[in-house]
Amino acid sequence: MKSQLNVMKYLTVENLREYVTCPYKFYYEYIEKKNRPMDWRHMVQQVINQVVYSYFQISIGQRSATKILGLVERYWSNISPQIFDSRIQYYTVTAQITDYLMQNLTAEQDSAPPLFLFEKFTSTIQEIDMDLSLTIDVAEWSDSSFVVKKYLVDAETDMLMLYNYLIAVFSKKVFNKIPTRIEVTTLLDGKKHTYFPTSEKIDEGIRYLELMNQMLGDFSRLNEVYNEDDCITCPFEQVCKRDARNENEPTTYYS
Ligand code: SF4
Repeated sequence: MKSQLNVMKYLTVENLREYVTCPYKFYYEYIEKKNRPMDWRHMVQQVINQVVYSYFQISIGQRSATKILGLVERYWSNISPQIFDSRIQYYTVTAQITDYLMQNLTAEQDSAPPLFLFEKFTSTIQEIDMDLSLTIDVAEWSDSSFVVKKYLVDAETDMLMLYNYLIAVFSKKVFNKIPTRIEVTTLLDGKKHTYFPTSEKIDEGIRYLELMNQMLGDFSRLNEVYNEDDCITCPFEQVCKRDARNENEPTTYYS
């Protein structure tokens, strides 16, 4: 058995990230396969990915602030203001994401075309007996450096740690190269989170993933690890049965 979660074909960054944010979310979406209700974060993330992907496809010399703005306008038009909690939130998020995308992508005006652009890889990490599928958003590779970049709506510390470990362990296994640095830019606050992996960090990352793999198979610990503060903004809020589970009602996850 590759993973204790043999109901899933692969573990991916997305579903592990969901698990780190809230294990209930993970089980609703990937185990019980409930339809994920409309969620503005999810939609905005899709727009960010489309803008970043399209921008890096433009050749050097053709990239400009006007091009970025044009891409944001094109893809943002798919987002309905109705999915936000209020008009004010819609306008605030629109302004912040646009502003920080402009700042960050303008800085990439003269960057060489990335070697990988939203490329998906799959591999078995033997040490933890786990199949992983991972998309590398932007990777710049040269003789002297290997830099991985990702642009997110926002990210908690745990999510950043998970992402950094996954990218570092995966890169070592698949490319036999440890990234020189991993940069995650969170576009709601414009912060850049830079991580410099080392060989020691790879071992640490493997231990971390091993622990996650064990936790993923242990549904009895669900109510120990979710954070109630996240519930207000959660797309599963209306269907979540966390209180019932807290009272030790039997789950059906293993059936
Ligand atoms: S409502 Fe709360 S406990 Fe339930 S899935 Fe969402 S974040 Fe997790």
